[in-house]
Amino acid sequence: MSTEISTCIWIHNEAHDAASGDTFDTTNPATGDLIAPVARGAAADIDRAVDSARQAMASPAWRHMNPHKRASLLWRLADLIKENADELGALETQDNGKTFFESRKVDVNSVVANFRYFAGMADKIQGETIPVPGPFLNYTLREPVGVVGAIVPWNYPLSLAAWKVAPALACGNAVVLKPAEQTPLTAIRLGELAAEAGFPPGVLNVVPGFGDEAGAALVAHPGVDAISFTGSTEVGKIVARTAADTLKKVSLELGGKSPNIIFADADVRAAVRGAGTGIFYGKGEVCAAGSRILVERAIYDDFVEQFAARAEKTTIGDPMDGTTRLGAIVSEAQLERVLGYVEAGKNDGARLVTGGERAFVDGKGNFVTATVFADVSNEMTIAREEIFGPVAAIIPFEGVDEAISIANATEYGLAAGVWTRDAGKALRVARDLQAGTVWVNTYNQYDSGSPFGGYKASGYGRDLGVQAALDKYTQVKSVWVAVDG
Ligand code: ADP
Repeated sequence: MSTEISTCIWIHNEAHDAASGDTFDTTNPATGDLIAPVARGAAADIDRAVDSARQAMASPAWRHMNPHKRASLLWRLADLIKENADELGALETQDNGKTFFESRKVDVNSVVANFRYFAGMADKIQGETIPVPGPFLNYTLREPVGVVGAIVPWNYPLSLAAWKVAPALACGNAVVLKPAEQTPLTAIRLGELAAEAGFPPGVLNVVPGFGDEAGAALVAHPGVDAISFTGSTEVGKIVARTAADTLKKVSLELGGKSPNIIFADADVRAAVRGAGTGIFYGKGEVCAAGSRILVERAIYDDFVEQFAARAEKTTIGDPMDGTTRLGAIVSEAQLERVLGYVEAGKNDGARLVTGGERAFVDGKGNFVTATVFADVSNEMTIAREEIFGPVAAIIPFEGVDEAISIANATEYGLAAGVWTRDAGKALRVARDLQAGTVWVNTYNQYDSGSPFGGYKASGYGRDLGVQAALDKYTQVKSVWVAVDG
């Protein structure tokens, strides 16, 4: 495991300080300790990174790289991520506060799979021949969009970077990646590993920095052709507005307030477990967190009791400890936000069944106990706004129609869960829910091949899957050729 932590801006396969010479501190939320000062990228660094990416797009080494070779580079990068998995997992845990189990076993493994999946796509991107009338041959080419700006949040720093970088590179683009200011470290390491894998200079650049500096400069830059953004709905709207000035192609994966619907005919034990993972996994700092748990009246009291017992077993501890189930909230500011929502829940009259308190490990860190509110109505703040913390709002309902109506009464539409033994009911609810992903008798399942993204204020465009990658990271050229005779 390397002991040096990389903290520089990564441009043209080289480490750089910020043009301004400024840095910002990244800290460990489980201890409050400084991990390292990191180069604070801003507009001048974005200019440099975009320039490098444009050079890559213009260079035959990348533009005309044989697609089998592009595939092999992506595969090689997957191998390098696997070889460095323990280091990347530990770095992610230090920076984000999530458990090492989640960063190492879940996130890093899925990142490896993701690069392999898109390696498999790289040499299968092809156009069509169209049977047009007249003496013409008409065919299409699927070409890269160009320079892609990828902006990712702090909850899944490496995974979400991979969701964007892997398909963008598979389609032959160059990328400028802007990680979140709270969690820049694994993204910088990804840039270094991509160079080690053999990607030419400029193909993947990483500019750590703040949203309103580096992020905003990337979105406004005329040399960037597309923006792939994951983050809050509020910032997503700013991104879409700014990108309109230069007509960039934009895709947005934004917030959620996902309903997890539990019918009386469900396997209740499985539903308790699934709803627990749905909201407490990743500290609830998950866009698709099942933060509204809708429970049918007939099993309501029983469910609340079992669910609260499960929440109480979701133990807080050192994120590196294998028995810890709930890591540290990413930052002090986020901790205050989560605790503010706990107060709002109480003030609105919801019943706090368990949790809702700040906690410490060895007297330190940004921890919040797994929190369960019952008797929540869908109009309360804790049922309407994305909390991004381990706070479950349990809402009672009666019958399928009411469940669907409550589930859809939200501005968001990212994901949803439904728990029932009645297959017909499950399929009807899956049909009627306004959400980009529906899980039936399970929750939080993801795969590189399965598209992920939102309806309504949860955004537009999809990550993952071949079709989504083609939609986002390629453009179609139609070529007409006059045929003699
Ligand atoms: P979160 O609530 O998850 O922190 P944000 O939307 O604030 O979500 O942040 C997601 C990503 O967007 C981060 O990398 C952040 O730095 C970036 N960001 C924030 N503000 C802007 C902006 N005005 N323009 C571009 N990127 C931004």
